[in-house]
Amino acid sequence: MRNMPAVLVVEDEPSIAELIAVNLRHNGFRTTWAIDSATAQRELDDTLPDLILLDWMLPGESGLTLTKRWRSNPRTKEVPIIMLTARGDEADRVAGLDAGADDYISKPFSTRELLARVRAVLRRKAPEPAGEAVTIAGLSLDPGTYRVSYLEQQLKLGPTEFKLLQFLMNSAERVHSRASLLDKVWGDHVYIEERTVDVHVKRLREALGVAGALVETVRGAGYRLTARPMVPLLVPAPLVAGLEKTIV
Ligand code: CA
Repeated sequence: MRNMPAVLVVEDEPSIAELIAVNLRHNGFRTTWAIDSATAQRELDDTLPDLILLDWMLPGESGLTLTKRWRSNPRTKEVPIIMLTARGDEADRVAGLDAGADDYISKPFSTRELLARVRAVLRRKAPEPAGEAVTIAGLSLDPGTYRVSYLEQQLKLGPTEFKLLQFLMNSAERVHSRASLLDKVWGDHVYIEERTVDVHVKRLREALGVAGALVETVRGAGYRLTARPMVPLLVPAPLVAGLEKTIV
């Protein structure tokens, strides 16, 4: 069936591969099993899966080597990879993620955790709908043209600031905690700290200039975008003149 996501399981231990495959199939996934790196490569050359579950310790080439190679190949570089490994320490985890793995599961793992991680990675990789253009208190964001402007003046935003602003504008006036923003804007990645949100909110405010006051900090709760900021916006005189002209 077309809608069933396909998962390539690269695992040299048949009992583990079987356990994973049974659980995935039972939950609506199609699975293909590759017992070693050569088989995995042949499978990938033939058909691209929606996700790869890749054992770190394989006979021949390691999962880490395979991850690096697949990430550097234009054909396979977008396929999500979750690494399976018995290695639990931080240095290995970081090495896997640095090589381009999307997530990491330490053996032994529960099938519930496996499914949760697989679904989370697939959700993160799903292309997001562009969404509607929105204007609040003179601030406009258009996902179709990827443009942000305040009172007709174009503003320059980085990709994360754009995504953050889009989320805040689409749920204006609502307060979002840092944890909720991380989940909605960054996806539920374990390696990002809540402090990151503050850094990007600061950058967003700077990029918005005068309109930065629309992004409010709500003490002890988080952030919101509001059309009625506590601190009134100081609109530069030439812009006010321009506004009046367009109104008249
Ligand atoms: Ca193994």
